Amino acid sequence: MKLVLASKNPNKLRELRQALPEWEIELLEAPEEPVESGRTFVENARIKASYGRQHADPKEWVAGEDSGIEVAALGGKPGVESARWASDPVAKLLAELAGASDRRARYVCELVVLSPDGTEVRATGTLEGEVANGLRGDEGFGYDPIFVPHGETRTMAELGNAWKSTHSHRARAARELSHRLALA
Ligand code: IMP
Repeated sequence: MKLVLASKNPNKLRELRQALPEWEIELLEAPEEPVESGRTFVENARIKASYGRQHADPKEWVAGEDSGIEVAALGGKPGVESARWASDPVAKLLAELAGASDRRARYVCELVVLSPDGTEVRATGTLEGEVANGLRGDEGFGYDPIFVPHGETRTMAELGNAWKSTHSHRARAARELSHRLALA
């Protein structure tokens, strides 16, 4: 089955393709991206999915994905602002946590899928971990060089894309989505 992802992010496309092999996933071809005006991940995922519904082939399923990192010592920031809270978000996070002993963080991924008739199916995935003291590794994207998942010593960028395809917040949300779609 074909699923159109309302995103311009090729990393999200690669990871969702790996996590949802039963779907043929493509990026939405649309002139612009919708404004992420939501206050929560799920609101923004729904905004993207609705934008996809307006622009995609009416026969195809569409998906909106919103994700980010929540840092305990920053009261959950940057959260929905993860992509845009600084020109260099990773450097800013390392600076904010310089010398901090509480380095707990978690990734969150929300998926909202709309069927051709507009029925909504939602799924959430989270991954707990800690912010490292510096950058390590060169796979993944975004905060992966400074995020160490619980139970691991390597950063997500060192663990790599194959590890992410099974264990990441996005992979977890994708698994939950598969179960919900099977029930829908
Ligand atoms: P948005 O969902 O397009 O608003 O952006 C999500 C942002 O959160 C990305 O630009 C990254 O900064 C961060 N992020 C989300 N998922 C991941 C991930 O799997 N690895 C690293 N950073 C992520």
